[in-house]
Amino acid sequence: MKFRDLAYLCERLEATTKRNFMVSIVADFLKHLSKEEVEPVISMMLGRPFPKWDPRKLDVSWATLSKIILRLTGTDWRDLSAAAFRNTGDLGVAAKIIFENRKKQRQTTLFERPLSILEVRNILEAVAEASGQGSRERKERLIESLLGRALPIEVKYLVKIMVGEMRTGLQEGLMETAVSKAFSIPIEKIRVASMLTGDIAETAAICAREGAEGLLKLGFKIFRPVKPMLAQMAENPEEALKEHGGKTAFEYKLDGARIQIHKSGGKVRIFSRRLTDVTKSLPDIVEIIKRRVKLDEAILEGEVIAIGKNGNPLPFQHLMRRFRRVCSIEKMVEEIPVELYLFDIIYMNGESLINLPYVERRRKLSGAVSNISLTKQMITSSPKEAEHFLEEAINNGHEGLMAKRLNSPYIPGIRGKHWLKIKRTLEPLDLVIVAAEYGTGRRHGWLSDYYLAARDEKTGEFLTIGKTFKGLTDREIEEMTERLKRIVVEEKGHIVIVKPKIVVEVAYNEIQESPKYKSRMALRFARITRIRDDKSPEEADTIKRVRWIYEQQFLRKSKFSHIG
Ligand code: AMP
Repeated sequence: MKFRDLAYLCERLEATTKRNFMVSIVADFLKHLSKEEVEPVISMMLGRPFPKWDPRKLDVSWATLSKIILRLTGTDWRDLSAAAFRNTGDLGVAAKIIFENRKKQRQTTLFERPLSILEVRNILEAVAEASGQGSRERKERLIESLLGRALPIEVKYLVKIMVGEMRTGLQEGLMETAVSKAFSIPIEKIRVASMLTGDIAETAAICAREGAEGLLKLGFKIFRPVKPMLAQMAENPEEALKEHGGKTAFEYKLDGARIQIHKSGGKVRIFSRRLTDVTKSLPDIVEIIKRRVKLDEAILEGEVIAIGKNGNPLPFQHLMRRFRRVCSIEKMVEEIPVELYLFDIIYMNGESLINLPYVERRRKLSGAVSNISLTKQMITSSPKEAEHFLEEAINNGHEGLMAKRLNSPYIPGIRGKHWLKIKRTLEPLDLVIVAAEYGTGRRHGWLSDYYLAARDEKTGEFLTIGKTFKGLTDREIEEMTERLKRIVVEEKGHIVIVKPKIVVEVAYNEIQESPKYKSRMALRFARITRIRDDKSPEEADTIKRVRWIYEQQFLRKSKFSHIG
């Protein structure tokens, strides 16, 4: 199959919002692929150059891509950035425009073949694999030859794949339906399989190679991550006890990063919650697993947290620096020590444990490791005891509790009620919308991403402290778009600045320090819970109050560590 056919398909997806239509054209396309093309096509359509579990990264920045585009077309960077700006920062679209109006003519050779899908994959692999001395130049040369051979429309999608953002509106759920349709396999079977493979592209490749039978044979495979089991929210321990029938296991809920650890003999790989390979960020954890896990083969789950000098937990953002690998990993290991707490085991020595009850798995887990802490746990039926345990967790600098049903299996990828998270919620804030951005995909054409601000009580200025696209229904977004359009002050690139008039109630999980905004604070996981038309902007919460809440939570955490 030619790559340009894939590009044309993406164009058709981009032009529609009709989900059934999307599913049907994608299914039809998949039917016409060879077995080898199925996985690359799906990965690319979801904005990934490689399958999800694949640790290889292109390691090519926006700046590098821009440089190559300019070199190939003889265009000025100003034209490129203007084109990107006009198209909500979409480098793919901008590149297409630039290629269409290129100043430098393309050097075609007489027998140049159109790019095939597998060829594109091979070139991307070569880009990812270029390492060592001169690898930068090699990467650039490979991309240059790839884009040099492409039509403008192909350039658009090649760039999008490299940047990792397709903006076609086709997400994983729709892709699952399309795969189900293409291979005539019930959607439930596709979903279950995807939980085990962790990747719809991989599932589809199995469908193409072996049909439904292949899915039945599917079990755990070491080094292929499984979608993690997730938790729903409970208000408090009492509610969790009620839900779980009077007795349940409470564990500390640690505020770190979830990891899934795969071990086979002396080899260890670690995957993040989103199933990306983070082994390289955690060499210290790899060592611990090698030395202290007695099993030959295992898949374990746990949480890593960053630790302050006196051994107490540090806020989540410290840990994230590790994953972002701001500087050399050796330095990071020293600067940001982490600690591992295990809480589940889902596979051991060739045997899946997911159907065992929670208590059994926990027993196996504690038998399998020596000298690695498990998350602190208490089994009780007493709301009072559980409440104390919650208090204790929070006082020790943790996030709250997880309540786990004693007899529950491990259900990959499901956010069910077997696990309930209990957090101490922070009170919501009333904030003012000061700017907005247009959405993508289904929300294309709507101002659906909002900048939220609190009032600086000294100057009267509204200072942004967060941004969210969550919480409003489609209808509310449509109405909000109309309202915002009436109060536009100016459009700065893709950001539409509005008069500070509309107040919304915003829930969030945490306030972080952030250089991103003038206020130097940013809400984490902000979501709009109500539109407060009953409040005027002057009645919105102040920066002073936000800072006070910030300090309260910070005090709570840093009470146990010497930071800040
Ligand atoms: P949330 O991210 O708020 O949905 O909460 C679920 C996350 O809590 C999991 O993905 C883990 O990263 C984390 N977590 C912390 N402590 C535990 C625990 N004891 N058991 C399970 N998950 C935990």
